[in-house]
Amino acid sequence: MRRSSSATLCRRVSGPAVHHARSLTTHAQRHARALCRLRPATVPPVAEHHEQLEEAPEPPTFDPETLARRRAALAHVRKFGDPVLRSKARPVDRFDDELRDEIARMGVLMHDAYGIGLAATQVGILHRVLVYRVEPDSPINALVNPELDWSSKDTEWAEEGCLSLPAVHVDVERPIHVRVTARDERGEEILVEASGLEARVIQHEMDHLDGVLILDRTPRDQRKEGMKALRAALEAAAEADAD
Ligand code: ZN
Repeated sequence: MRRSSSATLCRRVSGPAVHHARSLTTHAQRHARALCRLRPATVPPVAEHHEQLEEAPEPPTFDPETLARRRAALAHVRKFGDPVLRSKARPVDRFDDELRDEIARMGVLMHDAYGIGLAATQVGILHRVLVYRVEPDSPINALVNPELDWSSKDTEWAEEGCLSLPAVHVDVERPIHVRVTARDERGEEILVEASGLEARVIQHEMDHLDGVLILDRTPRDQRKEGMKALRAALEAAAEADAD
């Protein structure tokens, strides 16, 4: 999953989901809200704002070296149209060095691609493995064979991006809180209770393990717009490759 811009989160906080935003508990969310306070009090309507986000190029703060590393990482991430993204991943039954290498590689790719989550299917591996990190400086979390144990009835909408869907930013409704059981990279059982952005990333990546994409979870009009942006981005990338 790709981190939404602060503008996106601001839009959410200042929009209809404001009462939900107050219940978010992770540090990342507090950070996002802190960023929001720096923005003007008047936020354009959703549709107008969305256009601006769609048109925005890659974040301008990246230096050429970081950008090159990001492009190289993204080249390893399978894009829309690759059948592996629609495949159901299989549970892991061997917790060996090979698995740990796989998880380490996924972590590096996610980091270099400036993602906040990555599922094994996105790198062409049909294992029920995902990595995520919602805080830039915290260690990368890995969940093997994650299972949703419980999710809250409370839901909220927020904009999501996906490393496999270039240029797509669509709104997705998800439960705000989840409890997930999983194994760590050594096969030890773990329990994750997550809220807000962390819960959202975990759910996004678990969807990938079942071949589900954010385009499947967004309202029809946004799916149409998303597909249009996606096709243009994929065509531009193909042309750049051909040059
Ligand atoms: Zn994704």
